[in-house]
Amino acid sequence: MLTHFIGGEPVVAGKAFPVHDPVTGAVVRQVNEADPEIVDRAVRAAREAARDWAALPVGERAGWMRRLAEGIEERFDDLVVAEIADTGKPLDQTRTLDVPRGIANFRAFAEIAAQRPDDAFHLSGVLSYTVRRPLGVIGVIVPWNLPFLLMTWKLAPALVSGNTVVVKPSEHTPSSAAIFAEICAAAGLPPGVVNIIFGDGSAGRLLVEHPGVDGVTFTGSTRTGTSIMRSVADRVKPISFELGGKNAGLVFEDCDLDRAIEGSVKSVFTNGGQVCLCTERLYVQRPIFEEFCERLAARAQEVEPQPMISAEHREKVLSYYTLARSEGAKVLTGGGVPAFGDHRDSGYFVEPTVVTGLSEWSRFNREEIFGPVCHVAPFDSEAEAVDLANGSEYGLAATLWTTSLDRAHRVAQRLEAGLVWVNTWYVRDLRTPFGGVRLSGIGRQGGTQSLDFYSEPTTITIKLEQPDA
Ligand code: NAD
Repeated sequence: MLTHFIGGEPVVAGKAFPVHDPVTGAVVRQVNEADPEIVDRAVRAAREAARDWAALPVGERAGWMRRLAEGIEERFDDLVVAEIADTGKPLDQTRTLDVPRGIANFRAFAEIAAQRPDDAFHLSGVLSYTVRRPLGVIGVIVPWNLPFLLMTWKLAPALVSGNTVVVKPSEHTPSSAAIFAEICAAAGLPPGVVNIIFGDGSAGRLLVEHPGVDGVTFTGSTRTGTSIMRSVADRVKPISFELGGKNAGLVFEDCDLDRAIEGSVKSVFTNGGQVCLCTERLYVQRPIFEEFCERLAARAQEVEPQPMISAEHREKVLSYYTLARSEGAKVLTGGGVPAFGDHRDSGYFVEPTVVTGLSEWSRFNREEIFGPVCHVAPFDSEAEAVDLANGSEYGLAATLWTTSLDRAHRVAQRLEAGLVWVNTWYVRDLRTPFGGVRLSGIGRQGGTQSLDFYSEPTTITIKLEQPDA
């Protein structure tokens, strides 16, 4: 049984809920579900710890971040096993991305915070400078697709900025957070600085609405984001939202076609398409459209299917496969459920799928599916490609494939998205701003932008009297 972690202690309380192995559908563990009393206890524990934690010099908190990074290194293999058990991710991806990024998040934000100067401004006879204070207690709500990576992406800057936290991981993926609680305890982190509670959206809602929570950082669907926004409106709580996407990939006829195809395979099918940054709309310049479609579909057939996170999510993705057909799509490959003939047949798999032939106004091309699937459409001119890419209510990421330096800069600067990759995808420098526009989110995380969200500046202005002549 996985238990909550409150005030530095495991807390057994609440009903149990099951977690399923996406590969087989079997129940693999039971988890305590947070009720209002548990949420309240966790927030109180965070409040009690907040003053002392905020009073530490930033260099000391950075030292704690490095110790947590070391703790993650020590439990590396356990975290890999836990993450795979909850998500069904490939071993290689978990070893090279999910857990190492957790370590990198703590190390990077320790550096960035410790080296950040305060601002100072001089006017004649007046000195103004800013100091930054933590918000207090942060409610951290994370999704299931990159559970450990996204939790640490929020925790590291929140903690190093002097906040204490109550984290609620996704109900589908609690295990790596439970190990992280053990890492905090083993490192001797002061009790109450990190609290972790388990449960579904009801627990999340109780957390964000709790009057003792001063700010909310959320990664998840746009629908949940809008509901959280309403929940926190009365108290005007600061929010950071990393939400959904319907990301475009633009493939120009002057691209290196081999790289564009391999890059697109990665950007569509990584993690079973369950990454907010995955491409779901591909636009290919007409002279290479036929060849691109043929080769992408052939490569999609070689992609090892990865399970969807849950039976419900698989149903959602399959409903879009059905929708594509009913909207008149041509299915180039996939469109169904793979038959393995082994234990995976009871798991939550869908086929990697490539479709074409739909209008821009189809629901399939407008709504986030979050599965291993894309639609491919032709375009003629650069201007048309930009309009197509920008023609979405979302604006998280875009990718373009071209060997023209001029075009790369010209197009990248016209794309209405928080992130644009040129001839690559998913490469992240943790110091750069990350986030989306429109339905894809509010604010940016990364580097000093994260520190800005997790703290409030106070401007101090001092009149400097001139000595008498
Ligand atoms: P989700 O919105 O269903 O759930 C996310 C988290 O919110 C879970 O922990 C859930 O329990 C909690 N929650 C649900 N209802 C809540 C409420 N009313 N109040 C507070 N918390 C609540 O999202 P998901 O299905 O877990 O994740 C997939 C989504 O996340 C996709 O839309 C994807 O694009 C998005 N995502 C975005 C980014 C990004 O950086 N922009 C990164 C990863 C995932």
